[in-house]
Amino acid sequence: MENRYPRLEVNLEHLRHNVVNIVEKCGAHGIQIAGVIKGATGLPEVAKAYDEGGAAMIASSRLEQLQAAKDAGIEKPLMLIRIPMLSEVKEVVKLTDISLNSEMEVIKALNQAAREEGKLHKVILMADLGDLREGFWDKDELIEACEYIENKMINVQLVGIGTNLGCYGSVMATVEKLEELCELAEAVEAKLGRELEYVAGGATSSLTRIWDHDIPKKINLLRIGEGILTALDMGRFYGYDISELYQDVFKLKAEVIEVKNKPTHPVGTITIDAFGQTPEYVDRGIRRRALLGVGRVDYGHWEDLICCEEGVEVIGASSDHTIVDVEDAVKDYKVGDIMEFEICYSTLVYVTSSDNVNIVFV
Ligand SMILES: *Cc1c(COP(=O)(O)O)cnc(C)c1O
Repeated sequence: MENRYPRLEVNLEHLRHNVVNIVEKCGAHGIQIAGVIKGATGLPEVAKAYDEGGAAMIASSRLEQLQAAKDAGIEKPLMLIRIPMLSEVKEVVKLTDISLNSEMEVIKALNQAAREEGKLHKVILMADLGDLREGFWDKDELIEACEYIENKMINVQLVGIGTNLGCYGSVMATVEKLEELCELAEAVEAKLGRELEYVAGGATSSLTRIWDHDIPKKINLLRIGEGILTALDMGRFYGYDISELYQDVFKLKAEVIEVKNKPTHPVGTITIDAFGQTPEYVDRGIRRRALLGVGRVDYGHWEDLICCEEGVEVIGASSDHTIVDVEDAVKDYKVGDIMEFEICYSTLVYVTSSDNVNIVFV
């Protein structure tokens, strides 16, 4: 184990446990899981854990991450979950088996590229049900696109429709929203005169329907990242009991580089900080504080860090430093000590993509 900090410890055992738990829970409702690896910047070990835990496919928004999964020996179908760029359709059909789509122009380009490659590329058409990111807004337009693919395309195969909720518009995956998707799927099936292979009912936010046992029967595929990787949001945002999942698959560890008693309010004329902002500084007198050798370049937003040290509070950060208040800490921190943080999805995205963070599998 390389002894370098900051360090991200990945507990693969706990990760596999979470995968198996979600795969079984969803399986009981006839639902398959696409394991979404983008939250961990496509770490191949994470893709392998999804694979071993029973995910039906491996999914990412980024081709390079799917390539890494393939290079790591993953043989499950690979799914691109960001609408393909026109400039990448060739790679999409070469590398992936299935992609989420919302633009006829892109699907035509996929068909052309697939023909040139002598391949059959599968597509799921996305319906925007109000979250206002990707997807057809006009339902008739989606149905027409399905018919066009079904009747006119040879190298692109329509395998289903899907939706995404809770990413931009913060819209909840309610029973009503998912029923709306199922009704649309039925309308498509009526037009095509056949059943769709997949009705893809969203991401982690749709797991709330699994926990409540009220997910519509027709939904048979979910794309899950956060709910398996960090497994925090269902508990802290929706109040669900997720104690059967590990919340500590990923842990960030950082080293103390300075410990001193200092004023809590900056001394001098206040202008702007390293990122052009002027935060509010509360004067709490002289307090003991520690400095850590990790910063915003590594993890994004210091406000999102979840400190595991008793009595320690993160109070700010710049690019390469994090400042923590240790006045009320249980432990007497010294230079060279290590502090531990639980991390949420947004932190995970950053720490896994920072070259400066030493990723260690335990
Ligand atoms: C990121 C993403 C997911 C996974 O979201 P989680 O909340 O991490 O489960 C699913 N579908 C699409 C289209 C995505 O972009």
